[in-house]
Amino acid sequence: MANPLAFLSEQLTQLRASGSYFRLRELESACEPVSRVDGREVINLASNNYLGLANHPKLKEAAIAAVRKYGAGTGAVRTISGTLDIHMELERRIAAFKHVEACVVFQSGFTANAGTVSSILGKDDHIVSDQLNHASIIDGARLSRAKIHVFEHANPASAGEKLAALAGEPGRKLLITDGVFSMDGDIGPLPALCEAAEKYGAILMVDDAHSSGVLGRNGRGTVDHFGLHGRVDIQVGTLSKAVGVLGGYVCGSRDLIDYLYHRARPFLFSTSHPPAVTAACLAAFDILEAEPERIEMLWAITRYFKGELARLGFQTGRSETPITPILVGEAGAAHAFSRALFEEGLFATGIGFPTVPEGQARIRTIVTATHSREQLDRALEILARVAKKMGISP
Ligand SMILES: *Cc1c(COP(=O)(O)O)cnc(C)c1O
Repeated sequence: MANPLAFLSEQLTQLRASGSYFRLRELESACEPVSRVDGREVINLASNNYLGLANHPKLKEAAIAAVRKYGAGTGAVRTISGTLDIHMELERRIAAFKHVEACVVFQSGFTANAGTVSSILGKDDHIVSDQLNHASIIDGARLSRAKIHVFEHANPASAGEKLAALAGEPGRKLLITDGVFSMDGDIGPLPALCEAAEKYGAILMVDDAHSSGVLGRNGRGTVDHFGLHGRVDIQVGTLSKAVGVLGGYVCGSRDLIDYLYHRARPFLFSTSHPPAVTAACLAAFDILEAEPERIEMLWAITRYFKGELARLGFQTGRSETPITPILVGEAGAAHAFSRALFEEGLFATGIGFPTVPEGQARIRTIVTATHSREQLDRALEILARVAKKMGISP
């Protein structure tokens, strides 16, 4: 009998031919500056664990205590019987931290974006979206069936033109951007987008996945970084990156959050966070508030690493955050570079088309507050040596 999934093998063959096929690497230790991966000790520049909270003793203790009190799972979705008192405490805690009326926590940043965009808009509405916005925003936009208008990356004039062209159209308009772009590490032009949204009466939404815990006072995100409190209608953040655990949240007015409680499909139809996750997130907010020096350390080490990469002649594009891509060119070369770095003890992921445009393949590095100078010097030495051997830029 013919295999109805045979086309998948053909697709995989194509991936292998283009050098984009990968096998999942296995972490055999906690996520740390030096981690054990596939049987080898490597300097880990491949995580989003910006503040080193993923393996922090206080988060682990909080998780263990929550398991003892509440068990391993919640047994239901939030709207049936799966809302714990600590779920509500975390939402109040985040709302107060972000200086907004209310907050809802989703299972992930992905479901926060997709669930929010798809539930607040319908087929008669319009979404004006940055060209490089995250996949979860794009999926949410598609699920909403609203019309999607893509503006040129980080170009508020282009966003303004799209909104101006829609001025006479019926339907709601949502202007949406990432706070920090995950592949290039540049910061979205939020102040100018705010003005455009206000001028045309659009809803403004920002996805602060890579800015939560990284930008703004105590890691409050881009709205705080730019001093735009009260002017951004919907702020999404993640609990999976700098916060070190898992989850996504949406911040805004009480009505927005009540509406999402009633209409956001991942909230309604998928089980709530296990107690360990929620308790560890609460402990992470204690640390964000008590230890802002972690974020200062993150930025100090970021400046050092970027400075040294530039001195070595690497091309790092438009990055202005701890996400620093090293541009290589073709996807095959980026993946080969990443594999060769790994053999020498440095873990940094190769990223190619379709995640980034053709010809702009790269390895992506993310430093964390817990990397030492010595570890980064070793990483830089490996980068320079392997790049030279492989004939990659510097
Ligand atoms: C990682 C990321 C997400 C998804 O967050 P998770 O909590 O990992 O699901 C959403 N948006 C952006 C821009 C991201 O980088």
